[in-house]
Formats: sequence, structure tokens, C-alpha cells
Amino acid sequence: MANCIFCAIVAGDMPATIVDEDADTLAFMDINPWARGHTLVVPRRHYENLLEVEPSDLASTFAAAKRVAARMTDNLGAQGVWLWNSCGEAAGQVVMHFHVHVIPTKGEKPPPPGLRDASIDQAEIAAAAATLRDDT
Ligand code: 5GP
Ligand code: ZN
Repeated sequence: MANCIFCAIVAGDMPATIVDEDADTLAFMDINPWARGHTLVVPRRHYENLLEVEPSDLASTFAAAKRVAARMTDNLGAQGVWLWNSCGEAAGQVVMHFHVHVIPTKGEKPPPPGLRDASIDQAEIAAAAATLRDDT
């Protein structure tokens, strides 16, 4: 889809810190995280939102989210994981390519949706990504 940031990332035309991929999905670090380790999972095919996504791609996206969540608890010290999806502008969706936020927690209260943690810098995002990649 033209002018879609996440399609550009899937195509390799725009950089991203990738932590998981398979034939149907890609997972990469959120550029502006709510918490350390905040990852986005997208289907490679473009769908605008939850109401548009095909069930098979929905299943693949959630299977990928589960893989990333397991690594958050196994490797990143998370005690729990939030999944978040904003469907539609009224719900706060900004990037109109269906995606699931996967956000680790050590027991903090959930951040209000969309509240960024500005203390997390690029080095910390890269370090979390290295921990989340399953290339051991
Ligand atoms: P939404 O509100 O649409 O659910 O969230 C979109 C998310 O995409 C936001 O958390 C935002 O930080 C993230 N994001 C926006 N542009 C980019 C980008 O170019 N690269 C990456 N890695 N994340 C992005
Ligand atoms: Zn797209």
C-alpha cells in the first residue's frame, strides 16, 4: 500500500529493528515505546485495521505476538505482557496498517494508551531488541 509506513518496513524500504519474522508477519520495536521492550507485530499484507484483517492473518499475527510475549517473560524479565490494538481513528489508531502492540510489564499499572516513556532512548530500544530476538 503506497504511503504506508508499515508496508515500507515490511518491504525493507524503511529501517526498523526487527525481532521476529515469518512468512506472514513481522515484529519490530516501536520507535516511541510506552515501556522498555515495546514491540509491534504486523501482518505482511496491508489491512487498515482489525475489522479488515483476514482471519488467517489475524491468527498469524497473534501467534507471532505470543512468540514475542514468551521471549519477554523468558529473556527480558517481564512478569506479564499487555496486548493492545487501537481500531480506528476514534480509538487512537495512528498508523493505518493493522498492528498489535506487545508491551512487557514488571507489574506497573498499564500506561494510559499512547503515553510514551520519553526516558527510553535508542540504545535501550536496541538492547531490548537484542534480548527479544530468538537467534540463539
Ligand atoms: P497506533 O496508535 O496506530 O496503534 O500506534 C502506532 C505505533 O507505531 C506508535 O506506538 C508509534 O510509536 C509507532 N510508530 C510510528 N511510526 C513508526 C515507525 O516509523 N517505526 C516504528 N518502528 N514505529 C513507528
Ligand atoms: Zn500497510
